[in-house]
Amino acid sequence: MGKRSPDLVDARSSSAEAHMMHRLWFVLGIVIIASISLKTLTSLPRSELQVIVCDVGQGDGILIVYGFYQLLVDAGRTPQPILTCLEKHMPAGDSRIESVVMTHPDSDHFGGLSAVIDRYAISQLLLLPIPKETADYKLLMESISGHLGNNLTEVVVAAPGMSRVMGSSVGWQVLSAGTSKTRQILDSLPLKIIAEQQLWDVYQQFSQQIEGGEIDTNGESIVLFLTFNEFSLLLTGDIGEKGEQALISQGVLQHSTVLKVGHHGSKSSSSTDFLKIVQPELALISAGQDNSYGHPHKQVLSSLEASHSTVLRTDLMGEIVLTSDGFRYWWHTQK
Ligand SMILES: [Zn+2]
Repeated sequence: MGKRSPDLVDARSSSAEAHMMHRLWFVLGIVIIASISLKTLTSLPRSELQVIVCDVGQGDGILIVYGFYQLLVDAGRTPQPILTCLEKHMPAGDSRIESVVMTHPDSDHFGGLSAVIDRYAISQLLLLPIPKETADYKLLMESISGHLGNNLTEVVVAAPGMSRVMGSSVGWQVLSAGTSKTRQILDSLPLKIIAEQQLWDVYQQFSQQIEGGEIDTNGESIVLFLTFNEFSLLLTGDIGEKGEQALISQGVLQHSTVLKVGHHGSKSSSSTDFLKIVQPELALISAGQDNSYGHPHKQVLSSLEASHSTVLRTDLMGEIVLTSDGFRYWWHTQK
């Protein structure tokens, strides 16, 4: 009595050891679960809106992300810069882009698009069926045709008033799509949403109805307006003063927190009347470093300065990442 058998002591001691081991495994388990959760959390989409002006050189490629919804506006001149930008900013595990808008058929806006269509699933591609006789445009048309009905779900001919919801309080709409002449032709065509075989019909019918002469593709740019509570973003593609005047006379132009400056800051855009209405707090310019066009033009820079806009330029700063919670916004740049 009173004396413990050595066996019992051993048993108790090994029970204590087992208990310790259990605790250790428990703590280790928590650490593992916590680190996995943290990893999952950091790779989950943010609740904020992100606007990324990709550093695509001379051209436009803008990715807008809200949760699992992505809107890509144009894709730069060549594949690699836009693919690099998408790889960096698409939420982890998300390989579907909900909406892609090709503002107009100039290679500094669509050159990288075939590669994007090859790499990602796309729910909807918005465009205007403007014919163009260049080799790279034909390649793009072949790429669209090849993927349509598979990883490219649908091609939609853009029209003013079209709108999409990206999430709670976030949405974008088409303010204008093409000149009045283009609208006349398109509105007379019966097809709005195009399935595979119909795509070429629309192009053909559109070509037939254009009465000769070259189309000013810049002036045909699709114009988008995105809103998120008090935050807004206006993307005008490459429209010039004529297009800006059309927006004003249609009464669709209003103040925007941020402006993607038209036509890479060319002096053919950002007219005084236009800036007087938009009054952007922040002006984003996508242009190539030391580009041969002289974009952005000093006249545009001084007009923006006169409008008290803060100017961010990809040619000087590289990629621009703008984030908004719908009320405030902040940004960083990376070269
Ligand atoms: Zn351009």
